[in-house]
Amino acid sequence: MISYQRTIREKISCSGIGLHSGEKTKITLFPAEPDSGIRFRRTDVPGKDVLIEASYRNLATVNYATTLSKDGYRVQTVEHLLSALAGLGIDNLLIEIDSGEVPIMDGSAAPFVFLIQEAGVVEQPVPRKYIKIKKTIQVGTGDKFIKITPAKEFEVTYTIHFDHPLINTQQAHYVISEATFIRRISRARTFGFLHETQKLREAGLIKGGSLNNAIVVGDYHILNGGLRLEDEFVCHKIIDFLGDISLLGRPIIGHVTAYKAGHGLHALLVQEIAPYIHKWEFIPELEEKPTFSESILSHNQIIYPYPKTNLVATTAP
Ligand SMILES: [Zn+2]
Repeated sequence: MISYQRTIREKISCSGIGLHSGEKTKITLFPAEPDSGIRFRRTDVPGKDVLIEASYRNLATVNYATTLSKDGYRVQTVEHLLSALAGLGIDNLLIEIDSGEVPIMDGSAAPFVFLIQEAGVVEQPVPRKYIKIKKTIQVGTGDKFIKITPAKEFEVTYTIHFDHPLINTQQAHYVISEATFIRRISRARTFGFLHETQKLREAGLIKGGSLNNAIVVGDYHILNGGLRLEDEFVCHKIIDFLGDISLLGRPIIGHVTAYKAGHGLHALLVQEIAPYIHKWEFIPELEEKPTFSESILSHNQIIYPYPKTNLVATTAP
């Protein structure tokens, strides 16, 4: 378990098109102070500093994409970027964006993982706070549900069912770690059904959608050719879930079981957990022990990355 907050080492940019808007968009990621969280800054609003925190408090709509909104300004399709940040344990980041939608890139979280790795990840001298789930919370409608139960780690068991011969029922279970996220989950692309594309286009959605940024499932075959992962469909739902639940602002320790869920149920679960954020706050014991000799440094001399409070804890008998 990572004990310290993290940000990126240096700023980095990428460009792409918005899945729903079809607009070309540039984002630039900047390192940010401890405890500042993940924030978006819209740079296309003249004369105004529009900052939108990636928080459940700003969660606006969840139809086909997770949208944040504050003071009338929005950022749409944030979930894959937020998922990559959560997967790589980035707590603090400022994201400048010159439109209202995060670029879809290849439809997965992998391009954002690459971007963050290129920028470099640094630990910050402030312990990370987790939310440790202490009782079962369940939300659902009909046969669809999502629940979270107490556990020692962050685990996700996700099941999807589509009445389609190329998907049917898929289930995946992962203990979420940085390595698991990068290797097993992050490359899973978003997917849609060919017979639904016309309806979505008529609704003004997926203007930027193409075979370059989504798996398109036809009646008898996948139009893109093959899949990247055997469980790519369900893994993409896990990407979406990790992005959505990151709106709580702290990593979770608990076991999530989701059945036929989606952005709507993810959002409901987030709203149900939100009142417990402070009650269930958990700061893990530091795993790394100081490498310096404690006898020659007074507490006041010891700085990054060992905060004074934790040093006191490690020297106590
Ligand atoms: Zn998605």
